[in-house]
Amino acid sequence: MNKNLQELIKISLLDKEIDLMDPKIAQVRKGLTEREEQKAKKELLITDLNEEKKEHLTLLAKCEETLKNASTKLNDIASKMQEVKTEKELKALNIEEEIAKEQITFQNAEIQRIEKLIQSTEEKIQSTQQEIQDLEDQMKKIESEIALEIENIRKEQTEISKKKSAIVEKLDQKVVVFYEKVRKWAKSTSVVPVYKQACGGCFIRLNDRAYSELLKGDSVSTCPHCGRILFVEES
Ligand SMILES: [Zn+2]
Repeated sequence: MNKNLQELIKISLLDKEIDLMDPKIAQVRKGLTEREEQKAKKELLITDLNEEKKEHLTLLAKCEETLKNASTKLNDIASKMQEVKTEKELKALNIEEEIAKEQITFQNAEIQRIEKLIQSTEEKIQSTQQEIQDLEDQMKKIESEIALEIENIRKEQTEISKKKSAIVEKLDQKVVVFYEKVRKWAKSTSVVPVYKQACGGCFIRLNDRAYSELLKGDSVSTCPHCGRILFVEES
């Protein structure tokens, strides 16, 4: 078999192993990733709750302002009543007094309602913060449990990459560039065997001419249908 092709097969097998490493790490980190996602959701919730609290506080300030004005108004009415001269004036003041008192009663009830809302929002913020803390504790524990496993996978990854580099260095760089180009789209099926005269990637049958070219093995051949690099398994 063509020497370049032999080396390409080796490289493609190493690449296959490298490709398996990231999913392996993702699998090991699964519990951690899940908690990271939960934590991010809870942090968003806290942002929303803080926003909610801010709105409540604005509303509360408005109510307090209205209450203050109504009290001032009530005091004004009281002093005007001292100087009242006619029955008509008195009646008008009485109505104004009634309205101001209603306003005060209403604002007081509103203030109580809003204060309760603020309190419940604060409680939600606190409990969510506690949940985040719990998640962080769990994550630390998981991290320490999987650290060694991840490290081993990374070491393995480095080892395979080194093996690959050693082969790549000695190889005709044109062939390497070509392989990387195919790999961009064909991934782990960039170099495939031919089964029963058909490409092992796209499974389309090669015509006799293309097949006999491939059997000669003078150069690196590609599938005329899909462009993958082909080899014939030696029995
Ligand atoms: Zn093909």
